[in-house]
Amino acid sequence: MGTIFDIKTEQVRLVYSAIPFSTLTIFINSTLLCIVLWSVTDNKLLFPWLAVTYLLSALRLGLYRKFKLTSPAPANILLWEKRLLITTVLSGLLWGMASLVLFPGDDIAHQVFLAFVVAGMSAGAVTTLSAHTTACLAFISLALLPVVLRFFSLGDSLGYTMAFMSALFLVMLMITSIRLNQTILGALEMRYRRQVAEATIQRQALYDTLTDLPNRRMFFDRLKQELARSQRHRHLGVVMFLDIDHFKKINDSLGHLVGDELLIAIADRLKGRLRDEDVIARLGGDEYVILVPDIGDALEGATRRAQLFAEELLTLIRGHFDIRGHHLHVTASIGITLFPLQQKKPEDLLQQADTAMYQAKKEGRNSACFFLPNMQEAANQRLSIEKGLHQALARDEFELYYQPQLDSHGTLIGAEALLRWHHPERGAVLPGEFIKIAEETGIILEIGEWVLRAACRAISALSLYHMTISVNVSPKQFKDPNFVERVNRALNDTGADPHRLRIEITESTVIDNIEQTIVRLQQLKRLGISFSIDDFGTGYSSLAYLKRLPVDVIKIDQSFVRDIETDSNDAAIVETIIVMAKHLGLGVVAEGVETDAMRNFLLSKGCHQFQGYLFSRPLPLHALQSRYLTGQAQPVKPNVPV
Ligand code: GH3
Ligand code: MG
Repeated sequence: MGTIFDIKTEQVRLVYSAIPFSTLTIFINSTLLCIVLWSVTDNKLLFPWLAVTYLLSALRLGLYRKFKLTSPAPANILLWEKRLLITTVLSGLLWGMASLVLFPGDDIAHQVFLAFVVAGMSAGAVTTLSAHTTACLAFISLALLPVVLRFFSLGDSLGYTMAFMSALFLVMLMITSIRLNQTILGALEMRYRRQVAEATIQRQALYDTLTDLPNRRMFFDRLKQELARSQRHRHLGVVMFLDIDHFKKINDSLGHLVGDELLIAIADRLKGRLRDEDVIARLGGDEYVILVPDIGDALEGATRRAQLFAEELLTLIRGHFDIRGHHLHVTASIGITLFPLQQKKPEDLLQQADTAMYQAKKEGRNSACFFLPNMQEAANQRLSIEKGLHQALARDEFELYYQPQLDSHGTLIGAEALLRWHHPERGAVLPGEFIKIAEETGIILEIGEWVLRAACRAISALSLYHMTISVNVSPKQFKDPNFVERVNRALNDTGADPHRLRIEITESTVIDNIEQTIVRLQQLKRLGISFSIDDFGTGYSSLAYLKRLPVDVIKIDQSFVRDIETDSNDAAIVETIIVMAKHLGLGVVAEGVETDAMRNFLLSKGCHQFQGYLFSRPLPLHALQSRYLTGQAQPVKPNVPV
């Protein structure tokens, strides 16, 4: 990156660069002046004056040469400016002296000639010295004022006129010099600003603006070089991908400013631990990458050192941070990959380290994990699902299945809408395989909207039957500020009866922001919608807030129902949930009921609503209709809570 010039230095440099030209002018003018004045002026004065003028010119040329050779840094420019001022003042004095000591007594032609030469020198100085106003004004005043004085001292009208003309000329030169100086300074400033802007753009292209660390682009450039170098020199390097754990919580609870400062503090701390030849970059968000170009020659030693180094970095991060009065404790997850092994491109390396980091997160965070080839397979699968999800909606690959919910008499009272994905290559994909990825990538919002609308259409199609359709809503979807409006629109567009729609939320959705959840549930409730809490018992729902939530039904998670006959703890939990629901006036649906024994147990404890393979697997809408509803149209009753 080019260095930005300093305006002062540039001013001084401009004046120095004009020295050869001004010296040549001085040489010609002083020599001519002496030749012309030869017959009318005392030669004893002419010679020394000319000699001193030549000497000063030689000194200025010497300074010019040294200046060019050393190209002084801005820090030294004051010294050079001082030298410039001294020699300019001396030169001005010499030319002023010419008017005083070489002025021919009463030969007006020679007097005018001398004045003409000095005026010419001064006019020339305006062009060569204007970059530096003080030097310029000093020179022209010292050179011209004696001319004015000399003519004035003649005491006749011509003398006064000449003195006045010379003074006027001096004033005009001064004004011109100041204006020229302003133009030069303006141009310099513009050039300076442009250079600063260019440097900023260049910097932003290569550095992260928040932490000032290199960015992805610069990191890739270095990685490319180091990969090639390690292949040539047969040593091993390491790339580490470091991501802060649960960083969003810091942003959410303390604000982005604290988050930003923490990111900067982490960058500084990591940078402090690295050597000059190592590289640390911020890729974005809370992701940092570290490149250690040489960590050993043998795989075993390099692996051990990389592991130790990663642990050291984890310990560094674990040390607390004091940010804006908050005492923060964070942890990080690190993915490690060594090179050059099979990787051909820098992109491969980064992807491997990223995959390993993802594994470290999966293994509980606050740890480091090496890249292994089987991780690649999992990462590829995830990538293929991620890509597929983006096209699934457009290609109409989703379908809703409905798992019946029955009462103790075997009457259909509702169904849970469950999403199925008909993948063009992989066949049927279950939600367990893709919902989490959809959540992480944010596409869950679009999928959730599709599910909601499809379920509302089903409610319309089944409007003759008294049954509810339950729809699962993801935490992200529920938190969407427009969620209530979206539900309302889906109901209006499809003509679905809101009393037939039940929204299932999980405990984690509730816990995340209890006050907001209550407000949102109340808004939806006013539309006529009912709610159930899904997977009850697996989260941390506390009775205190369960009481405050306007929910209608609790669904007992199938993990408790599954072992109800063999595990006395599970049986006790199920019984407690049923009793608690009864006390709170809530309905209870048991999920995952697979055997008669389970059903009988649940019945004996007071649970009368079931869902599970004992009754039916999830079915496409037409199958649900033909199995349960054809020819059994039930009169539409007023909605009774189930
Ligand atoms: P995980 O343990 O899975 O990494 O959880 P996490 O909360 O750290 O999630 P993740 O790494 O996926 O998200 C990083 C978050 O960092 C996302 C975004 O809200 C936040 N973020 C991204 N850029 C900035 C930034 O410049 N400043 C601040 N303060 N936050 C940022
Ligand atoms: Mg993170």
